[in-house]
Amino acid sequence: MAYTVPKLEDYSPAALDKAVAELLAGLRQEAAAISSEGESKAFRDRWMARKNGILTQVNDLWLKAAPGPAKREVGTRVNNLKTDVEQIVDDAQGRLSGSASQARLESERIDITLPGIHRPLGAEHPVIRTMNEIVNVFRAMGYSVAEGPEIETDYFNFEALNFPPNHPARDTQDTLFVAGQEKKQQRDRLLLRTHTSPVQIHAMEQQPPPIRVVVPGKVHRADTADATHSPIFHQVEGLAVDTNITFCDLKGTLDHAMKALFGSDVNTRFFPSFFPFTEPSADVSVTCFKCGGKGCRLCKNSGWIELLGCGMVDPAVFKFVENNGYKADKISGFAFGMGVERIAMLKYGIDDIQLFFQGDMRFLEQFV
Ligand SMILES: [Zn+2]
Repeated sequence: MAYTVPKLEDYSPAALDKAVAELLAGLRQEAAAISSEGESKAFRDRWMARKNGILTQVNDLWLKAAPGPAKREVGTRVNNLKTDVEQIVDDAQGRLSGSASQARLESERIDITLPGIHRPLGAEHPVIRTMNEIVNVFRAMGYSVAEGPEIETDYFNFEALNFPPNHPARDTQDTLFVAGQEKKQQRDRLLLRTHTSPVQIHAMEQQPPPIRVVVPGKVHRADTADATHSPIFHQVEGLAVDTNITFCDLKGTLDHAMKALFGSDVNTRFFPSFFPFTEPSADVSVTCFKCGGKGCRLCKNSGWIELLGCGMVDPAVFKFVENNGYKADKISGFAFGMGVERIAMLKYGIDDIQLFFQGDMRFLEQFV
């Protein structure tokens, strides 16, 4: 039961001592029960508030009410009480804040002997590493590096590369178009570039011939993901334009590049092919770098692996950049393009293209 200040009837020294002892016992009991900052503040107010605190009540009920002859006896005790109450209240608060700071120190304790947080060094992603390797082979031959936007217009992605208006690649089956552009002319419609070839046009618009440029980058197709297809993948494109560039230059350049990438004992083979922006066009195979041409599972027992497409720049493409010095009767050039994931898969023996994009550390850590 909480202590309340009684009215005094008996002002004898013995009765006064008893009243004081009861008050201090009540105070100590309450002090011991305090367990929070809020309780501590209420406790101090209850005992020491100027207005209606217990000390004030003692002053009113004991001292002021005391009859004249007893005033001296009561006054001494009330004065001593003030000192005692202050002391006990202060001690109780000190004990509480002491244990609070102790608890805080405890929770903030740092074990300086623990090892630090280990942040492993990152490593180049196998796709980026392969792309850089390809780019470096051509840089060593004097090519500069160009990049272009991943969101292209139909003009750069198709029209200026001599794709006819109804070419199946322009269909939404194959190409990811930006939505809501039905009002635009076809050549202005935005799409996610399906190859790095539009950068050929950007490069020729920016720089008159001669030009030697290699273009690494990300491309997109409306393909369903499976072991060999991904809606996003990477290409490296190349373009060389000058006077008197022939198919021999194309063959020599790519043969050298394939040897630099896969080893000096690989051979290259060129097959007729078709691309709208090159004429003639060719597909290039290299001797299987696993079996050396004898035939194995990787090369489907043919001894050869098809790696890239290429060809002489179609004069119709030069028409689109004629104003920047690309006169089809004065200059000639070749272009080539290769899929980075395909080369990385062959090089590292990876059988699922999806592994490149799933971010699985168990896969990626093998390339550290
Ligand atoms: Zn083979």
